[in-house]
Amino acid sequence: MTNAETVINAVTGFPLSHTWSPQLHSLIYKKVNVNAVMLAFPQRDIEAVIQCMRTLPIHMLAVTIPHKETVMKYLDVIEETAKEIGAVNTVINAKGKLYGYNTDILGIEEALKKTPIKAKNVLIIGAGGAARPLCLFLKQYGAKIFCYNRTVEKAEALMKEFGGNVITEKDLVKGKFDVIINATPIGMSPNINESPLPQNIFHEGQTVFDFIYNPLETKLLKDAKNAGATTISGVKMFIAQGLFQAQLWLGKEPKYPDIEKDFLNILSPHASHSH
Ligand code: NAP
Repeated sequence: MTNAETVINAVTGFPLSHTWSPQLHSLIYKKVNVNAVMLAFPQRDIEAVIQCMRTLPIHMLAVTIPHKETVMKYLDVIEETAKEIGAVNTVINAKGKLYGYNTDILGIEEALKKTPIKAKNVLIIGAGGAARPLCLFLKQYGAKIFCYNRTVEKAEALMKEFGGNVITEKDLVKGKFDVIINATPIGMSPNINESPLPQNIFHEGQTVFDFIYNPLETKLLKDAKNAGATTISGVKMFIAQGLFQAQLWLGKEPKYPDIEKDFLNILSPHASHSH
């Protein structure tokens, strides 16, 4: 029940109709017994949201497309990893001082924790905002990075910054990639019959990770699974980055081993998945 003590946290972005952050954070707050809510503020003007954050106050702000880069200039302190990535997805209000963090990279690390990365050939599809924390993670873990993107210039700029090779459609051949990661929205609801890659690129022994979390199992993941590859849904990254957001705000790790099960249960009427 909300009362005069209830803390406001928020998620902002534009458009924001598909965010699952309020459901995820509500679960966490209930589990750790904190009196807080997370509200969704769809807003084009990030400066206005940051002003609200300082005055209301809002204690924690989750930031999504298209504000992850532009929000940085309105904050007081940016943590080193977020600086290196060039994007902030979490703002913490510590007694009026605003700190920017990036928990997407921690979500990626968690989702890939069972996947060998060092010296492996890793294909990234996409070169947008979400590919940036992925590139830093892969660089830190010593992967050989290959990037395939619709706009070749963007892939070139990204590979120049983080180190790696730009490839074109003709290089998308079976047997070349140990790990494939989709960091584009291709296959996201409602376009659930689309995939960024041909079916014949997948094979046993390969790991395929899709950043998309709606649907939980995309066509890309279905095709990969049918070919015998190991698949990872974007929901793993989404839950992990949200838990790290809560940890930054609470100052301690929320103990919640069953979170994936509980989260999938509350989503089941809305999300198409095969769990
Ligand atoms: P973004 O900055 O808009 O970048 C999108 C990328 O996808 C660009 O490289 C773009 O290519 C490419 N792309 C978009 N539509 C395409 C199309 N129709 N055909 C070919 N390429 C296309 O978006 P983002 O922030 O990187 O997010 C990418 C995806 O990751 C989204 O689906 C998002 O929901 C997901 N995501 C998931 C999590 C999670 O926690 N699981 C976290 C962050 C993001 P161009 O360069 O040619 O425009």
